[in-house]
Amino acid sequence: MKLEKSAELFRKGQKHLVGAVNSPVRAFKSVGGVPVFIDHARGSRIFDVDENEYVDLVLSYGPMILGHRHKKVERSIKKALKKGYTFGASTNKEIKLAKIVCDAFPGMDKVRFVNSGTEAVLSAIRLARAFTGHNKIIKFSGCYHGHSDALLVAAGSGLATLSMPGSKGVPDEAVKNTLIAEFNNLDSVKKHMDAQNDIAAVIIEPIAGNMGVVTPDQAFIDDLRTITRDKGILLIADEVMTGFRSKFGGAQELLGFEADITCLGKVIGGGFPVGAYGARNEIMELVAPLGGMYQAGTLSGNPIAMACGIATLKELKRQNPYKSFDKKAKKIKAMLLESAEKHGIDIQVNHFGSMVNVFFTKQEVTDFKSAQSCNTENFKVFFWQMMEHGVFLPPSQFEAWFLSSALGKADLKKIEQAIDISMAKVA
Ligand code: PLP
Repeated sequence: MKLEKSAELFRKGQKHLVGAVNSPVRAFKSVGGVPVFIDHARGSRIFDVDENEYVDLVLSYGPMILGHRHKKVERSIKKALKKGYTFGASTNKEIKLAKIVCDAFPGMDKVRFVNSGTEAVLSAIRLARAFTGHNKIIKFSGCYHGHSDALLVAAGSGLATLSMPGSKGVPDEAVKNTLIAEFNNLDSVKKHMDAQNDIAAVIIEPIAGNMGVVTPDQAFIDDLRTITRDKGILLIADEVMTGFRSKFGGAQELLGFEADITCLGKVIGGGFPVGAYGARNEIMELVAPLGGMYQAGTLSGNPIAMACGIATLKELKRQNPYKSFDKKAKKIKAMLLESAEKHGIDIQVNHFGSMVNVFFTKQEVTDFKSAQSCNTENFKVFFWQMMEHGVFLPPSQFEAWFLSSALGKADLKKIEQAIDISMAKVA
């Protein structure tokens, strides 16, 4: 596989960028080798600077749910650009996107737009503390909620990829109010609730996508909702990844529950930096300027990003691709299982809607511990073979693969062929 130009950019980039990247997983450290530098993308495909073409299952880690450069989306962005880039005052576009978002999530009367998932989540935690007057939060190991201090504990995503238990530079005081529970294990939540009476919120990725894809037992979600409500503890659904992806109304629509606060990101910006947090009126009215919980942003509600978000969500609603996502994900799962069996390799495949993951392990993957039982050496071999044969995967055992509505028959065929060759090499 020719990666000469990428290798040259990787070398050049080291001088003024840390590790030549602006987000750690992009450096391909856990799989070794040269990280690809991208030239352009269109529809279901992405092209690197060496002119290698891939079916894109990274999709910028989720946002590009319609594929790249959807015509209607691009038209809206161009139209918005002609009016100016940012004003420091409100526009009608913010109101329009807010309506689409609140209509999709029944638990949201109001929403506040920010610039990233990290900002959405750290603001939601502040809001939960303001509302309850309590300080402690419960998070689940293997879930990732962005890189704010209080949440960089037992986190998935890049930290799992790089085997980092937490981050240097985070003071003990910043995490002393963060309690860790285990995904799919209600007893581990109850234990904290029995021992503490200062808990403001439980935060969860309802369908975990940052330790690989790990699906929740329905009873776990139902019981978590009941127990938090009974105890006056807020339930924060971090739907930065699953919002508008699992269903139009996110994991909450799919699993049939309503969170107290919902965090969004990725798809709602359609590829531009947008995050959001929202809740019912009595909670959101605590946010400044209505209330005393402060949070702000120079570029929040940026008109170009709003235009992209509105066009993306409108088109997504029109396409309603969720059934077809499920079918395609099931097909990919079947391809993986069939090929692994043929070549005698132990794998588990988890999928939920348009998120898929192969784990190189015999053990069923239901939480962070079982996810960590994977043979990451096998993943490395598999990853590079998939790249070589034209499928762009996240360079990590612990990141979800994402499907776009642009993914067609020819793409699935290419994925099938790549899987079979790659599994043979793992064997
Ligand atoms: N929450 C979840 C569930 C995420 O998957 C991510 C990012 O992957 C974040 C929060 C942080 O979002 P961002 O990277 O936009 O800050």
